[in-house]
This record gives sequence, structure tokens and C-alpha cells, in this order.
Amino acid sequence: TKLTKEAIKTAVKDEGVNFLRVMFTDVFGMIKNVEIPVSELDTVLDDDLLFDGSSIDGFVRIEESDMYLYPDLDTFKILPDSMTGEHDGKVAMITANVYTSDRKPFEGDPRNNLIRVLTEMKKDGFSDFNVGTEPEFFLFKVGEDGKPTMKLNDNGGYFDLAPLDLGEHVRREIVLTLEQMGFEVEAAHHEVAPGQHEVDFRYADAVTAADHIQLFKLIVKTVARKYGYYATFMPKPIAGINGNGMHTNMSLSKDGKNVFDDPKDELGLSKTAYHFLAGILDHAQNFVAITNPTVNSFKRLTPGFEAPVYIAWSASNRSPMVRVPASRGASTRLELRMVDPTANPYLAFAVVLASGLDGIEKEITPEHSVDRNIFLMDASERKKAGIKDLPDTLLAAVENLETDDVITKAISKRIADTFVEAKKLEYQSYRASVSKWEIEQYLETF
Ligand code: GLN
Ligand code: MG
Ligand code: MG
Ligand code: MG
Repeated sequence: TKLTKEAIKTAVKDEGVNFLRVMFTDVFGMIKNVEIPVSELDTVLDDDLLFDGSSIDGFVRIEESDMYLYPDLDTFKILPDSMTGEHDGKVAMITANVYTSDRKPFEGDPRNNLIRVLTEMKKDGFSDFNVGTEPEFFLFKVGEDGKPTMKLNDNGGYFDLAPLDLGEHVRREIVLTLEQMGFEVEAAHHEVAPGQHEVDFRYADAVTAADHIQLFKLIVKTVARKYGYYATFMPKPIAGINGNGMHTNMSLSKDGKNVFDDPKDELGLSKTAYHFLAGILDHAQNFVAITNPTVNSFKRLTPGFEAPVYIAWSASNRSPMVRVPASRGASTRLELRMVDPTANPYLAFAVVLASGLDGIEKEITPEHSVDRNIFLMDASERKKAGIKDLPDTLLAAVENLETDDVITKAISKRIADTFVEAKKLEYQSYRASVSKWEIEQYLETF
């Protein structure tokens, strides 16, 4: 569906829309929006909506602060009632790309950046990078003061039903809201940890998939609030139980055909798929700062919680970083299990795609798959099998990123510089803090 300005104007009039939220995402993955009354609709549709870019984290300096928001017409959606207040009337939304005051795509806009990387992919002869994610989240109870508590909404586990699962009604309203907004939801279920849930929706081209993730988080948080819950995508809110991942399933297509699929291969994977996989394994230590961008991300990537720690792949087992799910044909894909939902999806898809394409260009092949539980192998067995570790802190991850030209090019030097500087500060601030663990460990001992 290609929406035109006229179609949007008609929809706005017919549905009696009062407001339009114009959305974009900053470098750190935060969704932002400016809301206009419909009287200003033409300004938005004519690419004339100005805003102050200097107030957005990681965008521009004060001296070059005027920027435009160019709406991507196909992203226009009318919000269902579950997303608006009682007296708001109808509200619509549209996702925009950020343009500079001299009307060029702003290279510091993560969405523009992903579009650029996809354009380069097209030059390599592929038509689409298809991405399907599995974001996980916890529901915590909201306290009387309106703030989230650390009390989980239930004590359920994987695939449980009520009364163990007390999230069924929230999940259903999330699913219905998603469907009203054009998502094709595939499944929703209680996850392994208490209070943890997952909703899966259909894959899409990388830009749409990233737009969907941003919207998904907004929907989950908004609907959860109505039920007295706070939804968090923080990777590891509680030590000792599973954290929140965002498994990312990927394939490349050429003229509508999945080029990862090759029924003649033992695992059903094409040469292209193996090269792509090798590229991912090769760059993982350097792009993990983008796919797992917070101090807390690295607390999830520890042994024993179904999250990867080592750089390996498998078709049969879920401990490695990349898995080849059982479906074949059009659904042949690679599942990258390290990603967590704090990643800026536009940047995350740009770096994994660039890594995969680098593998294709260099025609490299991956080390042998690891079909046993890596967590039961000791360091020397892992070494013999050629299995490297992911870095174990945000700082180490950011330092790796700086050394990798494929990755810094994939996010542009501008975004890389902003990102590295901010993440080093974030790490230093963490390092200067004193945790509960340290007090318990040392206060009375020394
Ligand atoms: N929560 C796990 C993670 O951190 C994944 C668990 C699952 O989906 N089976 O990645
Ligand atoms: Mg899943
Ligand atoms: Mg899951
Ligand atoms: Mg999965």
C-alpha cells in the first residue's frame, strides 16, 4: 500500500482526527514525537514541519539547530482508542525522517542511516533485508504513588495459563491494539521468568520492522499502564532469573525469493546464508555495543539464563549466539539471540546487515556449528572449538566498536562518535557508583 497525501487528508477528515503525532527516534533509541492539531496537517504533508534538533540527544549543535521532519506517508496510522485518552478524540501518527535546514537527509538520524545502508545492500543485488523480532518484557505492579514497584505481576512461567499467568488480559489488549494498527501478530505468551511476557509479530523489511519495534514498545507501555502495570524492556531487571531479549530473525531476498534457502544443503542454507552468518560471527564482538547498548545489557549476557555469552552458531541447540530455526523455504532464516530490546533497532539492523554483507563480500565461511550445550564446555574445550567470548562490559564493547571500520561505517562516523562518547560517559558514571552487591560483599568483611 502506497499512501498519498490525498488519501491521508481524506482519512483524517472522514475519521474526524484531531491530532497528528509526528514520530522519530534519537541515536539512543528513544522514540520522540511532536504533536500537531489537524489544522497544521498541510505543513506536515508538505515537509515543512520545523523543530529544534539541538534539543534532541545526539543530534546537532545549537548553531545548526533548525531541522525538518519529512513524514513517510506509508507509516500513517490512526491510533485505536486503547492508545488515547477519553477526551482526546481521534489521534493519528506518522513516522518521519529528519532533514537538515538545507533539506538534505540528516545523517545523524538512525532511520535515514538504515535507509542508506539498505541502498548499499541493493547495489549488491539484494532487494530486501527481512527482519522479525521477538521482544520480551516484564510487567511490574505500579505503586500508589504511580511509580513502578519491583513487584512482578505474576509468578507464571513459560506458556503458563491463569491463575499462574495474570498477564493474559493485558497481552490480549496489546495484541488487539497491534492488530488495529496493522501489525500481523503471530503469537503471545508468558515467558520463562515470572512476570515476563512475549508478543511476536510478523517480519517486515528492516525499516518497517524497526518502526514496528518503536511503536510496539509504546503500545505495550501504554496498555500496561491501564491495567496498573509498568512494562519494562530493561534487559536484566532482576538478578537470578532470565532477562529480556529481542531475538532477531533475519534473511535476505532477491526479487521476492529468500536467498538464504537452499534445499540441497544439509541444513537447508545457501552459500550466501553461510557467508552472512560468518560475517555476523566475525563482527559480533564489535557490534554488540549497538545490539546490547546499556550497562545492564551485559548482566543479561551471562551463563545460565538462555542468553548467549559465546560467539557460536547451531541448528539444533539454543545456547549459541546464532541459531538456525527449523522452518525452511520462504522462512529460512538466522536467529540472532544476543540482541536486547534496549537496542536502537535502526542502528542494530544496520550493523548486523553490514556485518553479514561483509561476510558475503569476503566469501568467508563460519567455523563448525556447535551442537552441544556450550555452557557445559570448559574454556579449553571452547578454545579448541574456536569459540570466542562476547565482551563482558559496555566499556569493552564500545572499545571494540571503535576498532571496526565495517561497523562504524554502518552507523556513520557522526553517529559512531556521538554514540561512543555518550556510552563511555554512561560506563564511567556506572563505575563511580557503589552497588548493593559490593556493600553486602565488603562492608562487614573489611
Ligand atoms: N529471555 C531469554 C533471553 O534473554 C530468551 C528466552 C526464550 O525466548 N526462550 O534471550
Ligand atoms: Mg520466541
Ligand atoms: Mg522468548
Ligand atoms: Mg527465539
